[in-house]
Amino acid sequence: MTRGKNKRHRQGDDDGGTSDIWRKIHKTGVATDDNMNQLYMITKPVCSGCRVNTKDNPNCFCALVPPPSGTRKFGLWQKISDFVDSLGFDPNTELRASANSPAGLTNLGATCYANSILQCLYMNKHFREGLFSVEPDVLQQEPVLDQLARLFAQLRLSKKTFIDSAPFVKTLELDNEVQQDSHEFLTLLLSLLEGCLRRSKISKARTIVQDLFRGSVSHVTT
Ligand SMILES: [Zn+2]
Repeated sequence: MTRGKNKRHRQGDDDGGTSDIWRKIHKTGVATDDNMNQLYMITKPVCSGCRVNTKDNPNCFCALVPPPSGTRKFGLWQKISDFVDSLGFDPNTELRASANSPAGLTNLGATCYANSILQCLYMNKHFREGLFSVEPDVLQQEPVLDQLARLFAQLRLSKKTFIDSAPFVKTLELDNEVQQDSHEFLTLLLSLLEGCLRRSKISKARTIVQDLFRGSVSHVTT
């Protein structure tokens, strides 16, 4: 009882003369905009940093939203860096600059000799299109062809800035740690592909190696 009285008394103290306004409205029967603004404290500036919702300011949202530079431990208002960290690795950092930017191939130790050949072959439009036209059932029977087509498909369509060449390298049973000669690798790969592609019934795939890379040297003595 005493506490209630005290409380009411305190509120009366700092009410900024609201009881006078109420009295005036009651007497005249007229409430002006100014009266309402004063009574409901509408024009008070937005409160910041009181940490609770104060009753003295309708423009206090402190319990809902932290002050401009403040954060909360959980939820919407937690520190952005904490939140981003909690999501783990950001795949966005591995995106190509644009759809036209070429992708790289991972170096698995000493497989750069193979990667450079793969990139050259991929950049050969006729070779690439020939490989993409191979029938799915032929790919199923020829793991090397299949992995190469998958690798090329990723180089073309993946949004990632680099492609993992491990599945292809594994299919060829190359030793990741041993450096090889690029040209030797190309020669061996082309003969291997030539053999695999014989299964295809698509003409632009079947003889792609012969059509693009086979040549003849003739010597004429006069
Ligand atoms: Zn506040």
